Amino acid sequence: MRYSVFSLLSQALAGNTGWRPAWRDPQPRSAYDVVIVGGGGHGLATAYYLAKVHGLRNIAVVEKGYLGSGNVGRNTTIVRSNYLLPGNTPFYEWSLKLWEGLEQDINYNAMVSQRGVLNLYHSDSQRDAYVRRGNAMMLCGVDAELLDQDGVRRLAPYLDFDNARFPIQGGLLQKRGGTVRHDAVAWGYARAADLRGVDLIQNCEVTGIRVENGRAVGVETTKGFIGAGKIGLACAGNTSRVAAMAGLRLPLESHVLQAFVSEGVKPMIDQVITFGAGHFYVSQSDKGGLVFGGDIDGYNSYAQRGNLPTIEDVMEEGFALMPSIGRLRVLRHWGGIMDMSMDGSPIIDRTPVEGLYLNCGWCYGGFKATPASGWCFAHTIARDEPHAYNAAYRLDRFATGRLIDEKGTGSTPNKH
Ligand SMILES: Cc1cc2nc3c(=O)[nH]c(=O)nc-3n(C[C@H](O)[C@H](O)[C@H](O)COP(=O)(O)OP(=O)(O)OC[C@H]3O[C@@H](n4cnc5c(N)ncnc54)[C@H](O)[C@@H]3O)c2cc1C
Repeated sequence: MRYSVFSLLSQALAGNTGWRPAWRDPQPRSAYDVVIVGGGGHGLATAYYLAKVHGLRNIAVVEKGYLGSGNVGRNTTIVRSNYLLPGNTPFYEWSLKLWEGLEQDINYNAMVSQRGVLNLYHSDSQRDAYVRRGNAMMLCGVDAELLDQDGVRRLAPYLDFDNARFPIQGGLLQKRGGTVRHDAVAWGYARAADLRGVDLIQNCEVTGIRVENGRAVGVETTKGFIGAGKIGLACAGNTSRVAAMAGLRLPLESHVLQAFVSEGVKPMIDQVITFGAGHFYVSQSDKGGLVFGGDIDGYNSYAQRGNLPTIEDVMEEGFALMPSIGRLRVLRHWGGIMDMSMDGSPIIDRTPVEGLYLNCGWCYGGFKATPASGWCFAHTIARDEPHAYNAAYRLDRFATGRLIDEKGTGSTPNKH
């Protein structure tokens, strides 16, 4: 069933009795050509592109909870491609291009909103760094615009320009950046993958990876053993636990990141705004709530909930930027488990175990990467070699020293 204005109208006339479930609820078969572990954005996108681009049909996505219960449904929905380093820029720009055509491609309204992402700067040295970043972006064909204080004031007059502890000097704007409704991304990819025959198996936890003669041959699950020609891990914050089932120890730490939503207010924030003197990012949802977040909680954890000191810290940064939100009430907050890599950049690669492939290390920023991550992981699995866009995201870079340290903070996951 295609979603269109005509299907909406005909269903409305028929009393909305003809809608079919967006995807099937199959029981696992005994074996598949490819099993993807993790029904988040990356796992579902990978399955979709494996079917669509590489023509594979015998694919399963195995998810321990329900589809979208992980970070894909927990993030602050920001998408952008304003990266500096050569390993990153083409990958994230490809992702943004895929976002731009995603809704037509998967026939699903993911509310892609290119409202602009504005990174504020508060010092001369920070401005110089943003000039460098903007120039690097434009050299790669990515849009970037440097604004002075008046330019920022025109876009965001509600920010504190007068009495701020860290006065705003200007900002780097990427107009094509913005937000995408996060859970609709999971649902849209799930439906599109299901339509191409992918089995989406929910409430099915992988508890072991069977390796015979150095080759991964299947996964032990709470619904029994599932044989697999190839296995792709897309488990985000749980990657180190799942990879350990195949004897792999990865350069990852898992940390909690929290997100917050305020009560709804009239339209106020038109772009995504990030605070350059700390770590705070905010946008406004179509329902009027401010959606915002800050730093990770700063200790290792596999819990999907956070702690009070970080909440206080995030609120303080929000007030520092725009005191007008001082009396706004926070309605909801939650946490997700981040797979923090040692250089802040992801890994999409084969592993030393034959037939086992890895997609992880997304840190704070894996939502924007969802389409390109799925695209590149599908390519790596189907062809047994990386796509040009993920060529730099190798697992062995931590041994060879070819790090992609976008933030320049070294192997300190809590700072990425
Ligand atoms: C609060 C917060 C804010 C964020 N904000 C942004 C943002 O604004 N922009 C941005 O680009 N990124 C953001 N991110 C990061 C982004 O959400 C993640 O990097 C990205 O979603 C990770 O990929 P995923 O969607 O596949 O992960 P997930 O949705 O977490 O998918 C992994 C899945 O694997 C499943 N799984 C784990 N173990 C097993 C097992 N043993 N068996 C079966 N299944 C298993 C999990 O249940 C989960 O569903 C944010 C994250 C959080 C938590």
